[in-house]
Amino acid sequence: MSAKLYKNLIGGQWVPSRTGKTFLNINPADHSDIVGEFQSSAAEDVSDAVDAAREAFKTWRLVPAPKRAEILYRTGELLLQRKEQYAQEMTREMGKVLKETRGDVQEAVDTAFYMAGEGRRLFGQTTPSELPNKFAMSVRLPVGVIGMIAPWNFPMAIPSWKLFPALVCGNTCVIKPAEDTPLSTYNLVQTLMDAGLPPGVVNIVTGFGPDAGAPLVSHRDVRAVSFTGSSEVGRIIGQTAAANFKPCSLEMGGKNAMIVLEDANLDLALEGALWGAFGTTGQRCTATSRIIVHKSVAEKFIAKLVERASALKVGNGLDESVEMGPQVNQQQIETSMRYCEIAQHEGAKLVCGGSVLEDGTFDQGTFFEPTVFAGVKPEMRIAREEVFGPVVSVLECDSFEHAIEIANSIDYGLSTALYSRDVNRAFQAMRDLEAGITYINAPTIGAEVHLPFGGVKHTGNGHREGGTGALDFYTTWKSVYVDYSDRLQ
Ligand code: NAD
Repeated sequence: MSAKLYKNLIGGQWVPSRTGKTFLNINPADHSDIVGEFQSSAAEDVSDAVDAAREAFKTWRLVPAPKRAEILYRTGELLLQRKEQYAQEMTREMGKVLKETRGDVQEAVDTAFYMAGEGRRLFGQTTPSELPNKFAMSVRLPVGVIGMIAPWNFPMAIPSWKLFPALVCGNTCVIKPAEDTPLSTYNLVQTLMDAGLPPGVVNIVTGFGPDAGAPLVSHRDVRAVSFTGSSEVGRIIGQTAAANFKPCSLEMGGKNAMIVLEDANLDLALEGALWGAFGTTGQRCTATSRIIVHKSVAEKFIAKLVERASALKVGNGLDESVEMGPQVNQQQIETSMRYCEIAQHEGAKLVCGGSVLEDGTFDQGTFFEPTVFAGVKPEMRIAREEVFGPVVSVLECDSFEHAIEIANSIDYGLSTALYSRDVNRAFQAMRDLEAGITYINAPTIGAEVHLPFGGVKHTGNGHREGGTGALDFYTTWKSVYVDYSDRLQ
């Protein structure tokens, strides 16, 4: 079957890769549906894109920030008009259900409007000078060409978290989308261009990580790198960037804990667990993958969780009645399978799911059953390592303090949740959970764009996306002293 051919976007032109190679983007819910054919790019393509971005930077940095912001504002309006089409295409390319892909596009809309507002702020500081006739201030300036590398699980929201603050601050960009979801980045950037973005300000180079991502990180004219993806790849990128003294924002994996105490509203906690563990088929950096339940309510909670999880409707996300879509590709399915084997080998009890769904009703998609393990111990790999699939572990705790200790005992630190009606414990959890995000009586997922997003420990290297913190990564401070004495002071 012939598929639509998409080319790289370099300097405002759609151009084929110099490698002459392409790859197919296939619907994970229906392998006969080919979403598109994309360029398999390499270092030469990256170099062309960086040259175009460097050229565009000469003029884009001089466009007043409120004018740059107007383009973002128009982008937000156009994205709203195109929301349904883009959501459908996103479901086709990565599988998550329509309700979620609409939310993904909406996140980009919210980011566009929020960051457009920043175009009229981008505040610096004025401060008293040590001398009488001298004025001292600090101003934000753009960094230059930014290299961006994105994952596939939020294929429009995450590129928008990177592109929109970078653009409003006056940077130009080269983005390499994940190989499983390039189309949503195309849709986002096409919308920016339709809103009036000049050529070369954003460039897209598609392809695989080592071929197209690595040369972007090491390119000498790329002044900063923004990466979201696995901790494994983040470590490689961070090392390359550090060796070149390049600022680098790393947003990586998670193993997010939801704590359910004995006084929790169990029905609410159950809804939070289902949505947190199986939303996006468990393929969220903030997915609930460890549920730490007080032993006095564990049996009841697990029984309800198993009942609800096994009743979830799994299928093609384009069907509005489907509650959980496929995993994004075969490799992710294999990872889920492998962790199910490891967990059972370590002594965890499989109480629901655990298998690939391949009974013929699923048209060769990559579907995995919603899976729950009980009797999980904190030292087991299933309790410590990211699966990135619809697999959740239930651990039991003796007390609130014990729950916090278990939650903090791993290397990751992205999102956490506490279900309890005790306000004292809620505030203690906010203070003591080692994570970038804590929800009280809400699932581990559901970020809002005006708050900082990111994690601690192996999840992130200290930067934040969203909120005004994003501006800190995409600007550099300059201190300016103006002597108006006209003499030696
Ligand atoms: P991944 O690390 O495999 O790939 C991410 C991106 O890096 C892709 O575009 C890939 O092509 C590129 N890449 C791979 N190898 C590279 C290399 N050597 N040099 C440069 N680029 C390279 O991750 P994924 O499978 O796309 O996404 C899932 C991971 O992302 C999970 O670990 C998840 O937790 C994480 N994630 C984190 C956040 C967050 O904000 N913390 C958000 C979403 C996803």
